Amino acid sequence: MALIVQKYGGTSVGNTDRIKNVARRVAESRARGDSVVVVVSAMSGVTDGLIKLAKDIAPLPSEREMDMLLATGEQQTIALTAIALHTIGVPAVSMTGAQAGIVTDGVHTKAKIHNITPQQVHEKLKAGNVVIVAGFQGETATGQITTLGRGGSDLTAIALAAALKADLCQIYTDVDGVYTTDPRIVPTAKKLAEISYDEMLELASLGAKVMQSRSVEFAKKFGVVFEVRSSLNDNPGTIVKEETKSMEGVVVRGVALDKNQAKVTLVGVPDKPGVAAKIFKALGDATVNVDMIIQNISHGSLQTANSTPTTDISFTADKPDLLKAQKVIEGLKKEVGYREVITAEKIGKLSIVGVGMKSHTGVAGKLFETLANEGVNIDMISTSEIKISVVIDLAKGEQAVKAVHAAFIG
Ligand code: ASP
Ligand code: MG
Repeated sequence: MALIVQKYGGTSVGNTDRIKNVARRVAESRARGDSVVVVVSAMSGVTDGLIKLAKDIAPLPSEREMDMLLATGEQQTIALTAIALHTIGVPAVSMTGAQAGIVTDGVHTKAKIHNITPQQVHEKLKAGNVVIVAGFQGETATGQITTLGRGGSDLTAIALAAALKADLCQIYTDVDGVYTTDPRIVPTAKKLAEISYDEMLELASLGAKVMQSRSVEFAKKFGVVFEVRSSLNDNPGTIVKEETKSMEGVVVRGVALDKNQAKVTLVGVPDKPGVAAKIFKALGDATVNVDMIIQNISHGSLQTANSTPTTDISFTADKPDLLKAQKVIEGLKKEVGYREVITAEKIGKLSIVGVGMKSHTGVAGKLFETLANEGVNIDMISTSEIKISVVIDLAKGEQAVKAVHAAFIG
């Protein structure tokens, strides 16, 4: 008898028919003799709707209260899924994150899991129940409700699979698996049979949006092999696991477009030691998730005889963090002494990812040439061992993805 953790995302539980469909699938797994722990997201649109309600009242609502609010989304789904299972004769119990023993730190809206003591889960499984756990939420050691960041139900599933030593972890979503790029942009995108944690991590954090990246990091750290597959058919999905030798033969595994970043530029920043430290320390303290950072060379021409030379510093951060970032930067105006701040929201970050890049040359040149041929201007560039990212105009994002996919993958 195997223990399976199945996670169903927002679209998979998007209405009551879909919830009944999930119940049928869970019942089938159980009928094969397996124990099933189900992790669910809020019904699609619910979390966004709750956020909108709060933002209608205040642009920067208290993060503790946001967690209190957002955690209700998943609680609706666990109860509805349990009810759906009961109606087809399957014993099932729903649990909040806290009841499932998910203990987190106190960083509201993006808490990290400290530990999991799934005592109640074990007990209810042992008594023959399907256990349905609310994704995305936990509780601090002192009983405050927390959430794990957008898309955090994935993390709940992976972490539970690790804590329960599950035999199988399946992430059910509205796509068949991980594709070489978003099939809605490029219809000829191919489904990957397997992908390494590192590639998946880059793709997830780059906005391939199949999974929350923190959950992939967690899976890598604890060696949780998982499968991403569709809840709407029986097609095999994509297996995510440690890198193997054969994976290096492919130079570019995927092309991703992240539309969820914003750019902040500080113009005329004094070019002297400690300035970048001040800026990014303050952003970090405010839990702003900074991604790319670029500093220009000094403006020699703006330098007068005995003044400090100045430079420009640009960074990108998650779009929802933009207001927070602006506040932090404004607060530093006196201390840092920059001239002005410019923000841009209409940017896209295009990235190519592949473990094969470690052993192939000429990849960057080919990418830039492809973009140039499309008349796409590159605003920022960053690279890692297995990734090249460029920030471009959002309006040209999809056109760029099509061209880059055609150039590298076909
Ligand atoms: N409901 C949460 C969100 O929309 C968590 C999740 O779906 O995984 O971000
Ligand atoms: Mg989701």
